[in-house]
Amino acid sequence: MKIRWCWRCQDEMPMLDKEEFGLCRQAMKEGRGLVESEIEKRKIKSYEWMGKLPSSYERFRYFIEMYHVITGYKEMHPNAIWHHTIDQFGADCPGCKKPLRTELARYCVECGFGKEDFTSQDTLPLVERRPGLFE
Ligand SMILES: [Zn+2]
Ligand SMILES: [Zn+2]
Repeated sequence: MKIRWCWRCQDEMPMLDKEEFGLCRQAMKEGRGLVESEIEKRKIKSYEWMGKLPSSYERFRYFIEMYHVITGYKEMHPNAIWHHTIDQFGADCPGCKKPLRTELARYCVECGFGKEDFTSQDTLPLVERRPGLFE
């Protein structure tokens, strides 16, 4: 889990890595037992379950619950969790420190970083064009 800037929410949000997101999806299928074993594994004392959800979200209950276990963040909208995954964004921009919109971004849309030496013939993503910046 990593707190990163989310373009859609316009806020810093807890984002999941592949493994964590996989756990959430698995919890959606397997239900409460998996969430309970994760709570145990993480030694979380007095875990507070999510409580009432809008009825259309009920089928995502343990998906939501697992995100809560992993991040400590009570997010009840499954579609928000769905886009809070680390690998859908690029590396953090060396200029503004917000993630590049995608891994293939050729410059930062937010602050313009990388635009100064960008030409339309450039096909390489910024991370490959100037790898030294991202170490
Ligand atoms: Zn978001
Ligand atoms: Zn930037």
